[in-house]
Amino acid sequence: MRYKSTRGQVSDLSFTEAVLMGLASDGGLLLPESVPDVSEHLEAWQSLSYPELAKNIMGLYIGDIAAAELGGIIDKSYSTFTNEKVTPLNRMGETNILELFHGPTLAFKDVALQFLGNVFEHILKETKGELNIVGATSGDTGSAAIAGVRGKDNINIFIMFPEGKTSELQELQMTSVLDANVHNLAVDGSFDDCQALLKSVFSDLPFKAQYQLGAVNSVNWARILAQIVYFFSAYFQLKEEQPQTNKVDFCVPTGNFGDIFAGYLARKMGLPIDRLILATNANDILARFFKTGRYEREEVNFTHSPAMDIQVSSNFERYLYYALDGSSAKVNEFMESFANTGAASIEFNTPSFDQTFAAGSATNEQTLAAIQEIYEVHGYITDPHTAVGLHVGKTLRRTEVPIIHLSTAHPAKFDAAIKLALPEVHPVHPTLEALKGAKTRKSKLEVDEDALKHFIKKHRAPE
Ligand SMILES: *Cc1c(COP(=O)(O)O)cnc(C)c1O
Repeated sequence: MRYKSTRGQVSDLSFTEAVLMGLASDGGLLLPESVPDVSEHLEAWQSLSYPELAKNIMGLYIGDIAAAELGGIIDKSYSTFTNEKVTPLNRMGETNILELFHGPTLAFKDVALQFLGNVFEHILKETKGELNIVGATSGDTGSAAIAGVRGKDNINIFIMFPEGKTSELQELQMTSVLDANVHNLAVDGSFDDCQALLKSVFSDLPFKAQYQLGAVNSVNWARILAQIVYFFSAYFQLKEEQPQTNKVDFCVPTGNFGDIFAGYLARKMGLPIDRLILATNANDILARFFKTGRYEREEVNFTHSPAMDIQVSSNFERYLYYALDGSSAKVNEFMESFANTGAASIEFNTPSFDQTFAAGSATNEQTLAAIQEIYEVHGYITDPHTAVGLHVGKTLRRTEVPIIHLSTAHPAKFDAAIKLALPEVHPVHPTLEALKGAKTRKSKLEVDEDALKHFIKKHRAPE
């Protein structure tokens, strides 16, 4: 499989080239040249374990890592999950919840970042290179990225976070990792300051090349690829218990559009997904788009589901490319209009589009009510991101098609929101309990590009 950019100026990349490039060098996003149809394999794949399923699906998209090597990378990536099904489907009456939070940091991002870390390690072994990953986090992504590469040879990771503005637990999940290649940078500023610093070091191209800077942000193709697998796994788990299952809907709490885009590709590959239900919190630019065709930026709202407090979704352009008939010219025009005016529109002129996606949003109150409802009915505690999906799924469900809800984090990670909904309930997880009182390490950083560069130079991976 070869890869190309949505903007049309980059093409014919191998998988590892696409992984190392991250964001396409023409400013677009990388996509496979074609999407394989796997309909005829569905029956044979039904009984595969998660890692075997992953090898079959991901192997179709990876032409430059030998099958045995890829198999080893996949086995290693999912051996860190504490549930034998990796992403188990929890069925409670009519409610189906796909638990994606059994990895090391208890959020669904582990599914992709455990894999990406091992892919980086493999590539560096082949090229004998070094990699210095630089990232900015407002909470969740940082710890999953760190868990993906901690202790690995020839890789260093530098994660900036706004000092005092992440939750105590989120900070602990990062700073308690004491491996020598992990550098937590507590920035004396806001998350926007961290992102601006990140942008400025990446735009210094000579510096980026000299220090082999790399990124693990949500646009990396390897992350999308790893996430396709659990849509298949969920479908097979439901079919195992309900053999008459034909089509299913998936409900996906959405921020950067990565998770739901993986579902879109699974559908294109022939998995019988009827609708993808897109659920947002008050930051509802995507929900509005799928109702009206108009993509229009607004101010960011802070909600109980902070990992979805996003206005401009970094993976949306991948979907746009397909929605605009694979025309890079139209993608460029749309993105330019959006960059210049804060808004752009698309005609939903082909009958298939408006039927693939259904969309809705949940207010903070509706999110808390959804946490209360599933606890009252099933005694199940769910995190606020998952609860956004539960609310939206309820408003859009049809009796004849089952819905599978993606659950993106363990509730103990977001205990403050749970406390508001269920004052008497205290979700805990042994992984998080073990962090309390743990030894930590972090370095202070001023909002200053030269200070960041100096830090990277001093702590870079050995050549
Ligand atoms: C990142 C994240 C999301 C949003 O996923 P996207 O792929 O950005 O749409 C939802 N829930 C949690 C807990 C997350 O960490």
